Amino acid sequence: MKKITIAIDGFSSCGKSTMAKELAKQIGYIYIDSGAMYRAVTLYSMENGIIKNGIIDTDKLKKQIADIHITFQLDPETGKPVTYLNGQNVEDKIRGMEVSSNVSPIAALDFVRVAMVALQQEMGEAKGIVMDGRDIGTTVFPKAELKIFVTAAPEIRAQRRYDELKAKGETANYEDILKNVIERDHIDQTREVSPLKMADDALLLDNSNLTHVQQSEWLMKQFNRVTEQAK
Ligand code: C5P
Repeated sequence: MKKITIAIDGFSSCGKSTMAKELAKQIGYIYIDSGAMYRAVTLYSMENGIIKNGIIDTDKLKKQIADIHITFQLDPETGKPVTYLNGQNVEDKIRGMEVSSNVSPIAALDFVRVAMVALQQEMGEAKGIVMDGRDIGTTVFPKAELKIFVTAAPEIRAQRRYDELKAKGETANYEDILKNVIERDHIDQTREVSPLKMADDALLLDNSNLTHVQQSEWLMKQFNRVTEQAK
């Protein structure tokens, strides 16, 4: 069967990565988490004195952007992809609140986006991928055969993120998370370069009131429909 490209975009904490990962596994595609790349650049910036108290030294980051190498490797035990920054496993570090609070301004920088988009396009060249992010269907793969735009109420998204952090044993405050979700939505939607917006040919998925099973069934239905057409 002809392989296609699947772009899953949408707001923060909509469960995009979980659904993209599961779908990829079901259909035997490669999953790529583009948000992890922006998170890794943010972690690098935090660890190298490029971002301090929310202020970014853009000149310094511009000079060092070519030194930031991001790769993914499958964890043989869990079968899940792990993010590596310059050879180091940073999967846990990039998911913390500190990175979450700093990532959107970093992701709004044009030269950061140019570098990440080039890397994403290279990773998706052979098709047979599911990539999730904010601009995958609009900028990275405008010709993707299946584009999905995911949304859910901010309060529901904040609660999901809160439950996720708690389950990992991390300290979490619901109000702070809700504030972060709303703030990230705002920065992502209003930034000049590749703002978060639904592609004209994307399908809207509001999963506020959908069960996990209902969502998976809907995704498989869309995948089957599009691959049938692409034959
Ligand atoms: O998907 P995730 O929430 O991990 O992404 C972290 C941040 O990276 C987002 O809030 C957004 O600012 C940025 N991002 C982006 N473009 C993408 C993926 C993520 O700007 N394709």
